[in-house]
Formats: sequence, C-alpha cells, structure tokens
Amino acid sequence: MSGHVLIIDAQTNRRIQLSAQVKVACDDVALAETPTGGMAQIRQRAPGVVIIAHDLPGLKLRQFCRTLRAQTQTQLTTIIVAVPCENHSARVSALIAGAHDLIEYTAEPSELRARLRNVMRTRQSSEETRKHASVDHARGFAEAATGFAQRTVATFISAGSGDHCAKMAAALQSDNGFVARLDDVQSVRRHPDPDTDVFVLYQGGQPLEARDLLGALRSHSNSRHSRILFVADDDPGAASPLDLGAHDQVPDTVSSAELALRIKRLARLKQDEDRDRKTLVELGEKAYTDILTGLKNRAFADEYLQKTDRTLAEHPKALAILIADVDHFKKINDNHGHEAGDFILSHIASVLKSSLREGDTLARYGGEEFLIVLPGVGPGQARCIGERLLQAVADHPSGLENGPHVRATVSIGVALTARSERKSTKDLRRAADSALYRAKREGRNRIEMANAADFNASAAGHPYSLTQLTG
Ligand code: GH3
Ligand code: MG
Ligand code: MG
Repeated sequence: MSGHVLIIDAQTNRRIQLSAQVKVACDDVALAETPTGGMAQIRQRAPGVVIIAHDLPGLKLRQFCRTLRAQTQTQLTTIIVAVPCENHSARVSALIAGAHDLIEYTAEPSELRARLRNVMRTRQSSEETRKHASVDHARGFAEAATGFAQRTVATFISAGSGDHCAKMAAALQSDNGFVARLDDVQSVRRHPDPDTDVFVLYQGGQPLEARDLLGALRSHSNSRHSRILFVADDDPGAASPLDLGAHDQVPDTVSSAELALRIKRLARLKQDEDRDRKTLVELGEKAYTDILTGLKNRAFADEYLQKTDRTLAEHPKALAILIADVDHFKKINDNHGHEAGDFILSHIASVLKSSLREGDTLARYGGEEFLIVLPGVGPGQARCIGERLLQAVADHPSGLENGPHVRATVSIGVALTARSERKSTKDLRRAADSALYRAKREGRNRIEMANAADFNASAAGHPYSLTQLTG
C-alpha cells in the first residue's frame, strides 16, 4: 500500500484498536488526537489515507475535506470517516461533507483491510488517470459534477431473495435524476444492460452466487466499464467483494439516502472515466490525422507499416505498396496560388479515397505524395488498382471557386511482395519510390511496377529521394 495512514481520534482505546487493525494492511500508521494536531501532521507529511472519527471534538468535517482537496499534496488523499453503522444520519452527513468512504470501529478486520485496499486501488488509478487527463477522479461525495448533470442509471439485482432489493430500487426510482431498474440474475448474466452506470448487486443470502455474478459483470463487454456496488448481508462469504472487483460495498441495513449518494458518486466516476476514454481516443485519432486532407498522416503510416512487418513475419501474405505523387504540383501552386494548391491537394485525396476499398490504407505521406497499402493483392490486381487511381484523378479536375477547373495528374510507383517472399515494407517503399521515379522520367501520369533493378537499387540505398524516405 503506498502512502501512510493517519488516524485521528480523541478516544485512546478506539485509536489504538483501529491502528492495530490497520497495521495488518499497512505498517506505516500515524496517530493524532485532535483536528489541529492531525492537520499539523498532514502538513508535514501528506498521508494516502486519513481515518477520522465522526464525533471528534471540534471537527468541522466539510472544511477539513475542503482543505485537503485544495492542496496539491493532499488532493488525492482518501478521507474515511469512522462512524457507527446504525447512525444513518451521521453517515449521510459525513458523505455529503466530502468523505470518500465510511468504516465502523466494530467492523471485521478483514473487511476493514479489504476496504482500505479498495480505496488505495482507487487512489492509484486516480493518480494514473490524472497524468493523462484533467479530471480528478478522487472527488468526494460533496463536490458537484462538472458540466451538465447526466442522469444516473442503476440496475438492481439480487443473487437470492429479492424483496429488499426491489424495495430499495422503488425508493430510489422516486429520487430525481435516477433511473432505477430491476433485473434478474439470468438476464443480467446473458445480457447486462449496456446503459447501466451502476449495478447494485444484493447478496440476498447467496454469497457464492453473488460473487460469481460479480465476476461475470466485471468481465462482460457490456458491463466492464460500469461500477458495481455490492450489498452484503450477514453471511460474510469466502472472499471480500471489494477484492473480487466490486467498486463499493455496503451492508443491507444501509439507508436509502446513503445508497443514493453512493450510487450517484460511482455513476459520476464512471461517467468521468467514459469521457476521458473518449477524449483519449479522439486525441489518438487527431494525432494520426492529416489536417488538410483528413487522411491518415505519415505518423500513422509509419506505425502501420511496422505493424504490417510484424504481421507478415508471423503470417506471410501478398502485399502491394503504391506511392502516388502529384505531377508538376509546384507549377500548380505557381499558377493558381498556394491556397488553391491546398484545395486541389485535398480534392485529389478524396478522389483517391473514394477509389479504394474499405480495408485499403491510404495516407498522406509527404507534401503531395500519398502512400497506399493493399494487403493480399497480386501484381495484376495492383496494376489494375493503380490505373484506376490514375484515371480517377485525371477524370476529376478540381473546380476552383470563381476560377477554372484544374486538371491534375499523378504518377504511381508500385512494389509487391508475394506470399512466399520475405520482403519488408521498407524494401517495398524504396522499390516503389524507385519505380515512381521512372514513371516521372518516362512522361508522368503513368504507373510503373517495381522490377528487380528497383529492388536492388533500393537495397543498395540508391538516392532516388523523390519521397524523402526515412527509416
Ligand atoms: P513532379 O512531377 O516531379 O513531382 O513535380 P512537382 O512540382 O510536383 O514536385 P516538386 O517536389 O518539385 O514540388 C512539390 C511541390 O509541392 C512543392 C511544394 O511547395 C508543394 N507542396 C507540398 N506540400 C504542399 C501543401 O500542403 N500545399 C500546397 N499548396 N503545396 C504543397
Ligand atoms: Mg513529391
Ligand atoms: Mg510531385
């Protein structure tokens, strides 16, 4: 467990008893007796977890939580309030004030340890996420969600008797901003609802079935990003649900107010994480997209070629690489201006794209050069596709705004590897470049297939650098 645990409690016997239990999970435990003494220790050395007694004289919990949240060193410190299970109003107040979780002094040591491990796991993943995104996943219950409030979808299931579970679902259904659904074990196993933010899983007297269902929910593609709140009963079961992948756990004596708070917080964390995941995907796509043409860019093409080399080494197959270069593009720029040049380039890109199939890869590889990768294609087909591209570009002049139609052409070099050969994509690129050079020399608006000389020239590193090859 990273970071130390600070226990703040005025009652000596509780403090000592709790520290003995915590020490089993984390040997770095510090103790304080008052809020001021605790704060002084926190300033000296930021703890990973603070456990604070709800009835600590002089404690202003809301302010305490806010102070910790406001400082960089303690922003991700987990605040756990020690409060008796039956004191429902104190529990709800503590959560609203900003506590991340609650424990009881009388809790089983194994349950306490599992809860500590769970908060530390959440903390570590928050730290990792914070490196990549701006969202603070360690927010407590008190902080408002950013942006507009999304509705919360909670699905209630009971592994055994379902009366209590149904009652709680009905109580939450009337709460604003909630959609609480009831589902049964069979249907959840087959098809967990993909829109559910939080599955509220009642043990219902069936500890084994409930833990098995927990595992099923964690691994099903519909629910693996959802949060799971485990509602335990008197039967402790073999392993802690928190250690088996539940994100939170409460006893079935939990009040509906506390349950609602916990569900909302879990839902918010899940929704934040969904947004982060989407942002990362979008950023990744942006990094691989050429802004002018909307095609994949050179960074993408280079990674794709490396991946192709690895795949070909394991599963050899035919592959064709084509390099298409716009003819006399400098003149086009000179005659019509750079802006018109941009427009024409982007037009050519869309003509090329619409002439290829779904699985083919097309990237803008350089200024006015495009790389095309065609897996599983032999010489006849590659030439045919190359000629189709050539024709498509020549047949689709770009209409400039308030200006002439500009007819551009491309020249194409093609290099192939058969299934039985072991040519790398680097060899193919270089040979295609060499063939392209010949196409240019022999009049442009034409296609040339790489021959043995092109491959030999490329192996010798012959400097045909029309495409400024690197790597
Ligand atoms: P060749 O037929 O031999 O390929 O002749 P070329 O004029 O196309 O080739 P050259 O390499 O001499 O010139 C390429 C030109 O492409 C020069 C460069 O300014 C232009 N170019 C490269 N990228 C862009 C771009 O993004 N926008 C515009 N407008 N022009 C570009
Ligand atoms: Mg060029
Ligand atoms: Mg050119």
